[in-house]
Amino acid sequence: MAPHPAPRRQLEPWQDPKAKPYITLENVTKSFGSTIAVRGVSLSIYQGELFSLLGGSGCGKTTLLRLLAGFEKPTTGRLYIDGVDVTDVPAYERPVNMMFQSYALFPHMTVVQNIAFGLKQERLPAKIIRDRVKEGLDLVQMGAFAERKPHQLSGGQRQRVALVRSLVKQPKLLLLDEPLAALDKGLRERTQFELVNIQERVGITFIMVTHDQEEAMTMSSRIGVMEEGRIRQIGAPHDVYEFPNSQFVAEFIGSINIFEGVVVEDEPDHVLIDSEAAGCQLYVTHSAAVPVGAQVAVAVRPEKVMISTTQPSGNRNYAKGIVREIAYLGDISIYHVELPSGKIIQAALPNLFRLSERDVKWEDEIYVFWHAENGVVLTS
Ligand code: ATP
Repeated sequence: MAPHPAPRRQLEPWQDPKAKPYITLENVTKSFGSTIAVRGVSLSIYQGELFSLLGGSGCGKTTLLRLLAGFEKPTTGRLYIDGVDVTDVPAYERPVNMMFQSYALFPHMTVVQNIAFGLKQERLPAKIIRDRVKEGLDLVQMGAFAERKPHQLSGGQRQRVALVRSLVKQPKLLLLDEPLAALDKGLRERTQFELVNIQERVGITFIMVTHDQEEAMTMSSRIGVMEEGRIRQIGAPHDVYEFPNSQFVAEFIGSINIFEGVVVEDEPDHVLIDSEAAGCQLYVTHSAAVPVGAQVAVAVRPEKVMISTTQPSGNRNYAKGIVREIAYLGDISIYHVELPSGKIIQAALPNLFRLSERDVKWEDEIYVFWHAENGVVLTS
């Protein structure tokens, strides 16, 4: 997976110690009988964020969203929205709307009727309803489809109607459970950008559940990576990708090479690690704050690994191996290089030349190497 090109948003309120969180979870746990779906989650989310909860099946993402919506009550812990303790506030009194995976549009109603439904239930004046529906349809460019029924729309169009139906109620917080799951790959990618643009225009805080790491990377201000009911790391896409805090997060997001090893030197500006798997010493330009002799892992992304037919200088961060596989992906090729230890290293290289014009071929003996600042030491 390609790294996220640049942080999409300039505002990073979580960096500002004076910024007030809009949503706060304090040590929230939710059990269903003997199943603990959410375990001691503490989390702050700021106004205007598009925050993604990312994790594998059954890790507790949907339960966390349902706790925020008020469809579930925490077993322990407290929840605050805009400074108000909403732990005991029922769903219909929270300034929150939830958009479900299935969209749940009414099949017998037109697009307009579907969007207006929630507003009518609130008994708003007819003119306000008409204006809000029109604004919503304009926002997602669906004015021409106003009188159609859901079965006369494409999956992407239905998704946009469901989004407008949630937005016209003007919630302060919109919760989205796998909002793009029903769309095919091409439409999904286009809709990701559309959704981000709409969210930026309306300025409503979005919390989105997804199991798709690329989707989370592309769309989010920050990502919370979940495993077995816990949040393992929270960070901007770039931070979670470049500086994973554990082997779980490193391997969950994108591909990565992991070298196990033993710390032989740990200084404020570097760590030196003996790695049998790599067959060399690994030098990383940050401290790991662990004792000498500790078992750690060094993670290096494939796009940070280079290959060469000549031996790199120095005696660290490179290994000799044999090219066992070259996976051609159009824009890049992934070289699978087997080291003497049997470990396979992946190096992702842009296809600047055609395969037939390159020096490195299958079964060639080559060197893989990387810069010291591109390794990350993982202690858990
Ligand atoms: P997926 O991506 O598959 O939807 P998820 O991360 O959203 O998964 P949750 O739906 O939050 O996961 O479920 C977390 C755990 O809690 C699972 O083990 C699930 O079986 C369990 N669980 C969720 N809801 C209930 C319930 N109402 N009763 C009992 N167990 C539940």
